[in-house]
Amino acid sequence: MSYHANEKGYYGEFGGAFIPEMLYPNCEELRQNYIPIMETEEFQEEFRQLLKDYVGRPTPLYFAERLSEKHQTKIYLKREDLCHTGAHKVNNTIGQILMAKKLGKNRIIAETGAGQHGVATATVCALMGIECVVYMGEIDIARQAPNVARMKMLGAEVRAAKSGSRTLKDATNEAIRDWINNPVNTHYIIGSVVGPHPYPDMVARFQSVISEEIKWQLQEKEGRSNPDYVVACVGGGSNAAGAYYHYLDTPEVGIIAVEAAGKGIYSGESAATSALGKIGIIHGSKTLLMQTQDGQITEPYSISAGLDYPGVGPMHAHLYKSSRGEFISITDDEAMTAGLEMSQLEGIIPAIETSHAFAIFDHKKFKKDDVVVFNLSGRGDKDLQTYIDYFKL
Ligand SMILES: *Cc1c(COP(=O)(O)O)cnc(C)c1O
Repeated sequence: MSYHANEKGYYGEFGGAFIPEMLYPNCEELRQNYIPIMETEEFQEEFRQLLKDYVGRPTPLYFAERLSEKHQTKIYLKREDLCHTGAHKVNNTIGQILMAKKLGKNRIIAETGAGQHGVATATVCALMGIECVVYMGEIDIARQAPNVARMKMLGAEVRAAKSGSRTLKDATNEAIRDWINNPVNTHYIIGSVVGPHPYPDMVARFQSVISEEIKWQLQEKEGRSNPDYVVACVGGGSNAAGAYYHYLDTPEVGIIAVEAAGKGIYSGESAATSALGKIGIIHGSKTLLMQTQDGQITEPYSISAGLDYPGVGPMHAHLYKSSRGEFISITDDEAMTAGLEMSQLEGIIPAIETSHAFAIFDHKKFKKDDVVVFNLSGRGDKDLQTYIDYFKL
């Protein structure tokens, strides 16, 4: 069985491109060109150079001694929190801005929920001197003021989506409308392994640098390139896709995906897509999706804004359905406790998204000599206020 996208963008029964007719030319231009462009030496050179000098790659693979001692297994942390802008998202936006330039585009649009992807996009647009418009729900603009300020400081225009629930899904609709109206000069930078083909595959390829590095780093440290497990949190699934990528076809490497159970999987306030999702179409992709009996998308909830997505990318739906991946759901409380433990055992304050991954020890037992690599997707500075309020610090 293949765990990579086929030509039409299918992972098993999931994926594809379910888009309105008017979006077809845009997606088709990208679909025809993304692999040929990515495979040129020139593209690879520019991409690698920027990852090295601008993002700060390779990020370290760090053996977490105290955390390993506590949980009686060998824990390595892949330090994506040390990327410029504080998370893995910039790996993808660097790749896509280069892609946009090769396609002759001089204007970028993006959607953002909590603002993290908006900031990563505004960052690379500033780097390249390219016009940037970020669509964001009116409600999100009000509750994510620091990220709105960052985007503006970086020179981006933040446009409010004022329809519907005025959150991420409405911002996405506005961005799609913009793209339909500006097919020639504009590239749409999607922030995770979601959306119509070729986005999930393209974003996974850009993020795959994570597992590419893990392989040689682990070889140096352990004398073998394969861990027993690789663990990552899943919102849309881009940091996870990058951490799994070069291990997908290596069955000896266990794949563990961690989702947000919010206040409990069955509480009605959750984002545990694998447990609750049914097959459906969201943002142009057939995947697992939280929905009501009559197919209305359910509003997701998680204490971490980055995991607060009602679907998962098609790669992850396939990993779940095929049982290649083991899916674990973690509540807000479990994640917050794990984030505090990580801070005090290793001196690393993780993003709350990432904290979910570190909370699996009550759900999954590892052997003492198992090598378990956690993808530390981002740093917790952006979440400090949430930690402060939760722990009354
Ligand atoms: C955005 C974000 C996530 C969730 O997005 P994925 O596409 O699932 O990786 C996870 N961790 C951090 C730190 C993020 O900023």
